[in-house]
Amino acid sequence: MTARICVLGPSGRMGRAVIEAAAGRDDVRITAAVDRAEAGGLGGEVAAGVRAIADVDGGLVGCDVYVDFTSPAASRAVAEAAVRHRRAAVIGTTGLGADDEAAIAALAKVAPIVLAANFSLGVNLVLGLVRQAARALGPDWDAEVVETHHRAKRDAPSGTALMIAKAIAAGHGVDYDQVKRHARDGDVGPRPRGEIGVAAVRGGDVVGEHTAYFFGAAERLEISHRATSRSIFAVGALRAAAWVVGQPPGRYDMLDVLGLQ
Ligand code: NAD
Repeated sequence: MTARICVLGPSGRMGRAVIEAAAGRDDVRITAAVDRAEAGGLGGEVAAGVRAIADVDGGLVGCDVYVDFTSPAASRAVAEAAVRHRRAAVIGTTGLGADDEAAIAALAKVAPIVLAANFSLGVNLVLGLVRQAARALGPDWDAEVVETHHRAKRDAPSGTALMIAKAIAAGHGVDYDQVKRHARDGDVGPRPRGEIGVAAVRGGDVVGEHTAYFFGAAERLEISHRATSRSIFAVGALRAAAWVVGQPPGRYDMLDVLGLQ
């Protein structure tokens, strides 16, 4: 079966990568593209016979699944519309707030959705590895996460850095919110045992780099992932789109799609 896809934000970095990755696959086909009314390129052909429109309902009506790499506000608005269509979704937007999450949770009650802050196979393996390392090493090894992204990225720390930090907390068996430290500034005092630090670096055109550090007494473990092309996220998102159509309503992640759960 070929999954018919409505891509959101075809003028964006990830939207373009999704359209490019879909060409040449036979498990997915772009059948609609929806962008903001103010976006450049509305009306232009983004894939064979598909023109970018600004009408969300018009885009959702004739597809099996929509693929969303946009902004938190857009993801919320489209999820609200998708409830009416009971439309499956693949959502990669990061920096989601509580209201955005709630709208997506409401959609997951009536349709299957895959939500992931990172669609790469490598990063999803890193999540398992850091959890295992944290469990084995314990909080005596200071755990820190450093992420680097291009200068246009809006949210910090990255959704992926948060997933990695939460996987470390899970390995330590603690509540992440109790131990997190997002960046440091001023007289912060000595590092408390068990703290999990996250720092963000921004610059240039870096697609995405994440390193989890575990600092021991006279040794250090580093688990790193470097993305050099957005195509890995796009390919993962399309794999998720082909997988999610026909699943029972509910919220899934990339570990479900990859069969690693
Ligand atoms: P971008 O700014 O290049 O693109 C965003 C696109 O969304 C634009 O085309 C914009 O016009 C469009 N848009 C905004 N509001 C819209 C609406 N209401 N309806 C339809 N389209 C709308 O951003 P980007 O670099 O492509 O990143 C987008 C999001 O994806 C960010 O949150 C980023 O962090 C995230 N991201 C996730 C992954 C992952 O693997 N999950 C990978 C890369 C980026």
